[in-house]
Amino acid sequence: MRPNLIDKTPAELRVTPNWPATAQARAAFSWEEEAKGLTGLPGGGLNLAYEAVDRHAAGPLREHCALRLLFRDGCRREVSYGELARQTSRFANVLRNLGVQPGARLFVLCNRGLELYLGVLGGLKAGCVVSPLFSAFGPEPLETRLRLGEGSVLLTSESLYRRKVAAIRERLPQLKHVLLFDDNGGSVQIPATHDLRRLLDQAGDDFPVAPTTADSPSLLHFTSGTTGTPKGALHVHGAALTHYVTGKYALDLHPDDVFWCTADPGWVTGTSYGILAPLLLGVTSVVDCADFDAVRWYGILKSEQVSVWYTAPTAIRLLIKAGDELARAHPYPALRFVASVGEPLNPEAVWWGQEVLGLPIHDNWWQTETGGIMLANTAAMAIKPGSMGQPLPGIEAAIVHQREDGSLEILGDEAIGELALKQPWSGMFRAYLGQEERYRRCFAGDWYLSGDLARRDADGYYWFVGRSDDVIKSAGHLIGPFEVESALLEHPAVAEAAVIGKPDEILGEAVKAFVSLKGDYQASAALHDELLGHARKRLGAAVAPKELDILPSLPRTRSGKLMRRLLKARELGLPEGDTSTLENPT
Ligand code: ATP
Ligand code: MG
Repeated sequence: MRPNLIDKTPAELRVTPNWPATAQARAAFSWEEEAKGLTGLPGGGLNLAYEAVDRHAAGPLREHCALRLLFRDGCRREVSYGELARQTSRFANVLRNLGVQPGARLFVLCNRGLELYLGVLGGLKAGCVVSPLFSAFGPEPLETRLRLGEGSVLLTSESLYRRKVAAIRERLPQLKHVLLFDDNGGSVQIPATHDLRRLLDQAGDDFPVAPTTADSPSLLHFTSGTTGTPKGALHVHGAALTHYVTGKYALDLHPDDVFWCTADPGWVTGTSYGILAPLLLGVTSVVDCADFDAVRWYGILKSEQVSVWYTAPTAIRLLIKAGDELARAHPYPALRFVASVGEPLNPEAVWWGQEVLGLPIHDNWWQTETGGIMLANTAAMAIKPGSMGQPLPGIEAAIVHQREDGSLEILGDEAIGELALKQPWSGMFRAYLGQEERYRRCFAGDWYLSGDLARRDADGYYWFVGRSDDVIKSAGHLIGPFEVESALLEHPAVAEAAVIGKPDEILGEAVKAFVSLKGDYQASAALHDELLGHARKRLGAAVAPKELDILPSLPRTRSGKLMRRLLKARELGLPEGDTSTLENPT
């Protein structure tokens, strides 16, 4: 039996963690004090890109590497803070020369590469509201987002434009400017578009950053669409403080770290932590411009001397599937902190990190809406495998029950309820675009309601139970899918597991499981029965699945989240709903 706590020694951490260790130090935490880590605009106000880039370019970090881009063909390019400041100013000048006004919506549809960073950071400097789009989206999801977001400027590559945008352009009357760049560095000649490289060459190096304030809109991020149609969450420049504080405390970033966030900036993690937080803290970020490949990933951890790594359960599962020998082929002497977000991290995966990479994996929790990490197993804290950790300093969380009349009951330790956060904090979203009522429903009194169910234990650690939409009520029991899925994942044959509630005359809902198998296992009646037996033994008959299907793979969003609602719709023969973010729509 494995212990339920992983307590690290300072030697394993290699540096002194940023986290205030004692309860007293934690109580003394103040946002005002932390805000001194940012400088603000010279003339007053606050701008995310100025904090992330320009202020460093004017100081001792001028020559320090900000981005280390690793291209598909094996080439690499380093961009210093000074160069990033110059290039983003040029991009902002391009926008200004086109007559783009502060507040205009700029959509960035780029594969990972320097242009994406110039678009997001240069756009923020110009005062635009920037919305990064996932480059693997097809024309329909792009059209929906550009329309809802009223995009007036689009930055994209020539090939993405031809494949995805050209056909919908006519249906987007508000789209005034399309900035294109050739993927191979050449010039672009498509009617009614601008050649970005030519305009950058003509633009000046100096740009007076738009006088935004902490309350000015900055980024528009679409949620993953796991539970329904994606929502457009609007954020503000003041979120800089949340990115800064959470990068420091939850990811334990120090200025000499080499940080790698594997998320694509088309999802909020890839922007908050793939772009902003590391730059705000003056860290060097590795940007991998290729797709997932286990051999390549281990190679990057080793050769780039990554010290802090932020990834997701879906990627960890792929690495586990690729086999331990691959991971053990290299040492990772620089690696000192590994964290995960996006889905529940099963205890098996935390232990895999400890045993195979030599470091446990630190789970943390947040949402597109929160703008940054809210709960975490931090560097200084003992890890409880399977738990999302504790609220960061300055963040107040609670488990609540919302009564019929809308009022809240704050629940005690061990009770299952909705995870809520006391508002405000600087990174919180300010609107769901075009859905005022939906936005209002997220709040009750002082609290923001997350839509996730969880419980807190007596040590103050929070445990994910399931999305409120996914929780199963069976014979009077409340069953969280996560618990059942984690038990199935303990079986050596199981690669992925998802469970749903299926209407049942006697039980109300019966638990049904779907699993996919690891490469060297074959589906068979015997394995099917063995898996049901394993679950019954681990969970007891009341909670264990009554039915189980073995599938070649499970449906996921492009950000890697299990789409239980789709399994349920298929099982019950209901319409599939919004599948715009589904990964392999076959
Ligand atoms: P939509 O809101 O459109 O259904 P989504 O909620 O999946 O999509 P995101 O904002 O990308 O969109 O994801 C946030 C959600 O991901 C959280 O509400 C939670 O359900 C899940 N999540 C994130 N981190 C964790 C974690 N560490 N453990 C468990 N669940 C997590
Ligand atoms: Mg959500």
